[in-house]
Amino acid sequence: MLKESIVAELKRICGDEDVLTTPEALKAYSYDGTTNWIKEPEAVVFPKTASEISEVLKLANREKIPVTPRGGGTNVSGGSVPWFGGIVLCTTKMNKIKKIDKENLSCTVECGVVLQDLNTALAKEGLFFPPDPQSFLGATIGGIIAENAGGPACVKYGVTKQYVLGLQVVLPTGEIVNLGGRTLKNVAGYDLIHLFISSEGTLGVISEAELKVNPLPPARKTIVAVYDSVEKAGETVFRVLENGVIPGKIELLDNWVINRIEEMMPMGLPKEADAMLLFECDGIEEAVQKETDKIVEIAKIYGARDVRVAKDMDEANRYWMARRAGFAAVFGKAKTVLSEDVTVPRGMIPALIRKSKEIAKKYGLELVILGHAGDGNLHPSFLTDINNKEHYERAQKAMEEIIYAAVELGGVLSGEHGIGLEKQKFFMRVTDPVAIDLMKKIKALFDPNNIMNPGKIWE
Ligand SMILES: Cc1cc2nc3c(=O)[nH]c(=O)nc-3n(C[C@H](O)[C@H](O)[C@H](O)COP(=O)(O)OP(=O)(O)OC[C@H]3O[C@@H](n4cnc5c(N)ncnc54)[C@H](O)[C@@H]3O)c2cc1C
Repeated sequence: MLKESIVAELKRICGDEDVLTTPEALKAYSYDGTTNWIKEPEAVVFPKTASEISEVLKLANREKIPVTPRGGGTNVSGGSVPWFGGIVLCTTKMNKIKKIDKENLSCTVECGVVLQDLNTALAKEGLFFPPDPQSFLGATIGGIIAENAGGPACVKYGVTKQYVLGLQVVLPTGEIVNLGGRTLKNVAGYDLIHLFISSEGTLGVISEAELKVNPLPPARKTIVAVYDSVEKAGETVFRVLENGVIPGKIELLDNWVINRIEEMMPMGLPKEADAMLLFECDGIEEAVQKETDKIVEIAKIYGARDVRVAKDMDEANRYWMARRAGFAAVFGKAKTVLSEDVTVPRGMIPALIRKSKEIAKKYGLELVILGHAGDGNLHPSFLTDINNKEHYERAQKAMEEIIYAAVELGGVLSGEHGIGLEKQKFFMRVTDPVAIDLMKKIKALFDPNNIMNPGKIWE
């Protein structure tokens, strides 16, 4: 419990109604998108300005109270769980879109703006923010930057780090610092912006961002390719790319996910198929048509049993809704789900799928695979139950083997979900010790009292 005098000071800074300490509130902010990491904070605060964040951090720094930044709480690595208690600093009341600059293809937003709200506002100007984590209904810009989130569209458009032009950040010591600017090119001094991208709330609180945005593409087409073998689906991904076509999206759904989606919302997906690939081409109409034709041709050559181009946007939207439901489909089916986001060079996707299946068989577990196949980022998942010790430990061991298999195939242990609490032990084993030492020194420089999201990444 925080001392009464500290709670009173927090209320003076943020206002009475924006400091929560009731047992219900503390429980509500004790977990995030993971199902296996839970720890209650001692207070939750909702600052409305960078100055309020600064005052909260100065107080926390003086009293050495841990502060865990939180946006939508949708991350799936335990990142916004307050592992050492203290204060959860929730940014959802900083949700203003301050400026959309159509001429310069950029926008200025507060950190708590939800991605869907940003894209709705941008669409009115014919624009969009390309990185598209599938949690866009709840994920905030601050969380998206702190996790360097990506999504289906990243195969063509890249991840969040390619879209951050400038940041306003509040440091753990309370200073408010402006980094970068509004231009596409900027090589003045060290690139401090990128230190905050994927920092998982450990270096400071991102209060505002200047983002690059793109014009909405005038045409889109969705292609569905159905396979009797998930490995063949994996091979098609890099065959399409090596043939010079870079679609907007390439997503993979395996047999389990297809059947679970049909169970949740029947829409005529091929239930007996081993896998499905969903492609989206976007751009000017003539180019989209040519790319679509090429994808259909290549998918057939590399083993698709059936290839179909959605006849209109309604049909296309149904397929993409099914893909979006994929994660919920998996998480809704078990008490505990171990779902990773290993990423391999695209040519290694079939090998990773093969290896994951072998590991699942060895441990007697059912494997579920979906993911952003276009950028080599798969989500192998095991359904388990944290209360069933034997099963849970078996699933953990199997997942560990999959993670190391991905690394051996030249990949990384996290493509988008971050390290948080979930992947610390793997991070320590596969990362160059000199790099870890440098990261720790950077952390100590920014956060001498280790108040910002302690317990995350390497501890
Ligand atoms: C159904 C579902 C689908 C998902 N799909 C994807 C996907 O396709 N791609 C993907 O990349 N991720 C995906 N995710 C993971 C998650 O949504 C993203 O990581 C998202 O970026 C988190 O945003 P958030 O606002 O919820 O952040 P939170 O979960 O609240 O926080 C995430 C991390 O960022 C820190 N943080 C939050 N706000 C700030 C701030 N203002 N300043 C500094 N640090 C901050 C927190 O301390 C924490 O470490 C998915 C999650 C779910 C539940």
